[in-house]
Amino acid sequence: MPVKNRFAELQDEITAWRRDIHENPEILFETHRTSAMVAEKLQEFGCDEIVTGIGRTGVVGVIKGKSSASGKVIGLRADMDALPIHEATGLDYASKTPNAMHACGHDGHTAMLLGAAKFLSETRNFDGTVVVIFQPAEEGGGGGKEMCDDGMMERWGIQEVYGMHNWPGRPIGSFAIRSGAFFAATDTFDITFEGRGGHAAKPQETVDTTVMAAQAVLALQTIAARNADPVQQIVVSVTSFETSSKAFNVIPQRVQIKGTVRTMSKEMRDLAETRIKEICNGISATFGGTADVTYNRGYPVMANHDAQTEFAADVAKKVSGSCDEAPLVMGGEDFAYMLEERPGAYILVGNGDSASVHHPEYNFNDEAIPAGCSWWAEIVEQRMPTAN
Ligand SMILES: [Zn+2]
Ligand SMILES: [Zn+2]
Repeated sequence: MPVKNRFAELQDEITAWRRDIHENPEILFETHRTSAMVAEKLQEFGCDEIVTGIGRTGVVGVIKGKSSASGKVIGLRADMDALPIHEATGLDYASKTPNAMHACGHDGHTAMLLGAAKFLSETRNFDGTVVVIFQPAEEGGGGGKEMCDDGMMERWGIQEVYGMHNWPGRPIGSFAIRSGAFFAATDTFDITFEGRGGHAAKPQETVDTTVMAAQAVLALQTIAARNADPVQQIVVSVTSFETSSKAFNVIPQRVQIKGTVRTMSKEMRDLAETRIKEICNGISATFGGTADVTYNRGYPVMANHDAQTEFAADVAKKVSGSCDEAPLVMGGEDFAYMLEERPGAYILVGNGDSASVHHPEYNFNDEAIPAGCSWWAEIVEQRMPTAN
């Protein structure tokens, strides 16, 4: 069963929604216009229940099948937020807002899930209930977590959840997925080294924080190189180094360094946190200073569940002929929180030969719409088949 014909018919309409969202990007939880548009469309499609304000600006729609006797309830999730990037595509529907852009394709994700919701509301060819989930703040705000914290899973009795992301560099409409850990945990650290500032010509009277922090930057690289099992994935990147004085002739009192840690397991995450603290405290003590280390745990590892991954891959094969094994991704994904609460799977759909996500020239490829929508619809129809 290839792409559903109905989505070829609906492609122009779904494309128009996508471009409208693209032109009006909203960041983090500020998805007011987008959320209102989503709720309005769901209303128009005849969804059985529409609730706004879940996870602040998230929207939930409920579609019951011809029968719901099976008692099954599946959640389908799309993200709605844009990024603080100034668009450089030159498209006629480019962002109208400076420094805001749909550079991760969440405009496409929202439009495709709306397309699936329209189809499922028309046909209702399943035995069970579909909950369509539109979340804000995927890009760093934890909107998915906030929707879960608002009791979404329990309120609608969601038993399984599915998610999808477009993927530049993959053939348009082709799919890739993997079981288990898939996207990395994304943590940050913020360290302030304190010494004794003074005249740069009299280092003997100071405790030089610049030298201290520079040693720490190098030593932090040994977490990946010397502490971690080489077959495990871990990234420790220092991304900011700031001295409290900018003068040529002053040894600064303080140096602040910041960075990110990406890991694929709890063991590596714990290792990073422990070793960052040990290294920074040890080095600062060696030089007679102090280190104040803050380690912030961000999104957890996003791990697909085995049975749902196998099912999702089968559906993808039916829609587009094949489904590849996806590589590990060291980026983060807020859908991790939903997969911690319920079994489910997250799949990649090809975006063709486009600029990478988070690039100012990126654009979602509307040619992926029929495959993406078909995958959503088939997930529902095959997971909750009608009796005949
Ligand atoms: Zn992104
Ligand atoms: Zn994204």
